[in-house]
Amino acid sequence: MDREINSWLDFDRTHVWHPYSSMTNPPATFPVVAASGVRLQLEDGRKLIDGMASWWSAIHGYNNPVLNRAVEEQLAKMAHVMFGGLTHPAAVELCRLLVELTPKPLQQVFLCDSGSVSVEVAIKMAIQYWYAQGRGEKNRLLTIRNGYHGDTFGAMSVCDPVGGMHHIYSHLLPQHLFADAPQARSDKQWFDEDINSFKTLIEAHHGELAAVILEPIVQGAGGMRFYAPEYLRRVRALCDRHEVLLIADEIATGFGRSGELFACQHAAVSPDILCLGKGLTGGYMTLAATLTTEQIAGVLSSGEPGVFMHGPTFMGNPLACAVAVASIKLLLASDWQQNVKRIEKQLEMGLGPCRQLSCVADVRVLGAIGVVELKQPVDMRSIQPRFVEQGVWVRPFGTLVYVMPPYVIDDQDLAFLTRAIREVLNEEYPAG
Ligand SMILES: *Cc1c(COP(=O)(O)O)cnc(C)c1O
Repeated sequence: MDREINSWLDFDRTHVWHPYSSMTNPPATFPVVAASGVRLQLEDGRKLIDGMASWWSAIHGYNNPVLNRAVEEQLAKMAHVMFGGLTHPAAVELCRLLVELTPKPLQQVFLCDSGSVSVEVAIKMAIQYWYAQGRGEKNRLLTIRNGYHGDTFGAMSVCDPVGGMHHIYSHLLPQHLFADAPQARSDKQWFDEDINSFKTLIEAHHGELAAVILEPIVQGAGGMRFYAPEYLRRVRALCDRHEVLLIADEIATGFGRSGELFACQHAAVSPDILCLGKGLTGGYMTLAATLTTEQIAGVLSSGEPGVFMHGPTFMGNPLACAVAVASIKLLLASDWQQNVKRIEKQLEMGLGPCRQLSCVADVRVLGAIGVVELKQPVDMRSIQPRFVEQGVWVRPFGTLVYVMPPYVIDDQDLAFLTRAIREVLNEEYPAG
């Protein structure tokens, strides 16, 4: 490698934080200089097939000409303008699309800058909704274990309290309620006892609960678990019975990833508040949205203090809104549901054989998400470079080796990706 590269990588190692990383013992980071379609190009010219869609977001792959054009056209008009007192066509068109696409009661859109912030906004909406009705005591949240909702304080407070990576802050966090995670899997038989823990908690605490928050059907970074739609239907019914709002965090699952446009649709359930992010802009810009119903928006705007108390500097950023509009239109113009089914079938075919490996505890596939759960946590420092040597970008965590590739990946690249996973697992954990 030449000197220049060494120097910027050295600077990265000594000065630049990466997600969940150490500054004194930094993990290897790979220099990527370009990306196109499903391929990431490293500085040394190697190309990796991307299994991660940059954490669920790059649903149309990289350097997509349609999305590039949307950004360029908006850039020529204006990159950014404040949203306080001003509005612009890109934001309004995006909100119109989101209202049309999401379940009917969701009519009011709050645009914000990241998934975590959209969760903060959702929590504040729920609390302010009850406060506006003189029921300020309804200010706690109920969630399920194994959840992940982001890294800011409100979001952290509803992440899994054990595996949630945030336990060192727990004394600073509001104490919310955690039901057992659902055990009934999306691909297995439902059993009534599965809702018991949740039911007991909501029955005992509804008087102090503002909302239930959960990831519908697919729990992402908290364990990559898929659970039965019946669980979600029961949750909806219990929320209605006990006057508790339901917040669906579809930041990871939104825009087709689970096989439905939104994962709530597996259960034909409509939440009171919906969080979207990640795939919203096709992975181009950071943007998120929190949607709610006309009724909730009306109540929280009518009581004291009469306005919703939130407004980020980059709210409704025009570049992000323009590319989100283009990304959603591109998705809808494609046969995305058929395509996600194709990916599902290929992932099942390619990852299914991992069930035979002695290191593997479980293999599960839903929509364009494939998960190989191991019996032991992976050694990231050894396994990550192995994937790169095999020509794929896969980033495991804990016991989970998982992929959610861009939807544009073809069968051949999918076969290559899943074969690489099988081979790396075979090498890392030789049989016997
Ligand atoms: C990623 C994620 C978040 C947080 O989004 P950021 O954009 O990283 O802040 C919240 N909830 C879920 C389900 C997520 O997958």
